[in-house]
Amino acid sequence: MVEEIPTRLAYLQEQLQELHASGLYNHIRTIESAMDGRIRVDGRDVLNFCANNYLGLANHPRLREAAKRAIDQYGIGPGAVRTIAGTMSLHVQLEERLAKFKGAEAVITLQSGFTANLATIPALVGRGDVIFSDRLNHASIIDGCRLSRAKIVAYAHNDVEDLRRKIAEETEYNRRLIVTDGVFSMDGDIAPLPQLVEVAQEHDIMLMVDDAHGEGVLGKGGRGIVDHFDLHGQVDIEVGTMSKAFGVVGGIVAGKKIIVEWLRQRGRPFLFSSAMTVPDAAACLEAVDILENSDELVQRLWHNGDFFKTEMKKLGFDVGQSQTPIVPVMLGEAPLAQEFSRKLFENGVFAMAIGYPTVPKGMARIRVMNTAAHSQQDLEEALAAFEKVGKELGVI
Ligand SMILES: *Cc1c(COP(=O)(O)O)cnc(C)c1O
Repeated sequence: MVEEIPTRLAYLQEQLQELHASGLYNHIRTIESAMDGRIRVDGRDVLNFCANNYLGLANHPRLREAAKRAIDQYGIGPGAVRTIAGTMSLHVQLEERLAKFKGAEAVITLQSGFTANLATIPALVGRGDVIFSDRLNHASIIDGCRLSRAKIVAYAHNDVEDLRRKIAEETEYNRRLIVTDGVFSMDGDIAPLPQLVEVAQEHDIMLMVDDAHGEGVLGKGGRGIVDHFDLHGQVDIEVGTMSKAFGVVGGIVAGKKIIVEWLRQRGRPFLFSSAMTVPDAAACLEAVDILENSDELVQRLWHNGDFFKTEMKKLGFDVGQSQTPIVPVMLGEAPLAQEFSRKLFENGVFAMAIGYPTVPKGMARIRVMNTAAHSQQDLEEALAAFEKVGKELGVI
């Protein structure tokens, strides 16, 4: 039976048809196993190169056990927002452990990286203020900037000279904030944080970095981008997530004590949305414990990423300019990327095509997420599938 679409919703149907026609419709696969290097998808066992599960912690036995123990002791839900129902000792412990791990003055946790940005930016700047934002910043940063009602000035991607020009042009302001992704997730390149610190200090502008893809990946034992560049104490705010390398879900804001204190008073998603659940918090605590005690998983992640990138280049693929274990396989038009992804899946490799609006038009790609959960055998199988499909489609 064809569904009746009321006239008032017909515009949505047109727009959905447009997405189908341009190869930009999101087809979401169903995963029937635990998240891991190999998973069961739509009834098929495949190698998984889609997840941000960098360290393979999403299904780690220690995290599973920690979550179960915590449920037995504290139950599941936090009850209400922390300012009203009180905060659980687990969340307090997690924040203290994260601050120590990252070498930050203080940490506040939120429900996700997305809400961490929505909490932080509007709490720091508002009408009459100016935000300098990297043109390729993540959607959650952009939304946080818009919510703040400050003037948003985009500067060219990772271009410190353009940032300097934009700062010089903006003479009317109350407060100012520079904000950037740490690792740009679609290309795998890293923000020039030392130079951004220099500019911020020169002009006494607040500096914020969103290190979602660097948390657990960059720095000593995965301590993040601030540690990677040894800039402790020089970046006002380091946003992070526990939804990627930590394998769980949750947002982090690390930085100066006074900012964290302010967010507990004025971060709207902190004040008006409940905290992470008990098993989330307990599993994240266990992840910190694992990372504090060994850098083995981080080493394996980087080894796998470097190996995959090198071999793909040898095969003749354009893998862009990644400086991290993320490997973008550049294909150009969205329909080709979708076809490539479909054929990879037929060959036992789950790797998604990414197109507009996540990346610019004409720059569609397969983004390969290497993780510590992959074995050498997994990587070699995946490379063989890429070679086969690449030749079939005339890409290499
Ligand atoms: C993934 C990502 C987020 C969102 O993190 P979640 O915890 O999944 O909400 C925020 N910022 C950046 C830069 C990201 O890559």
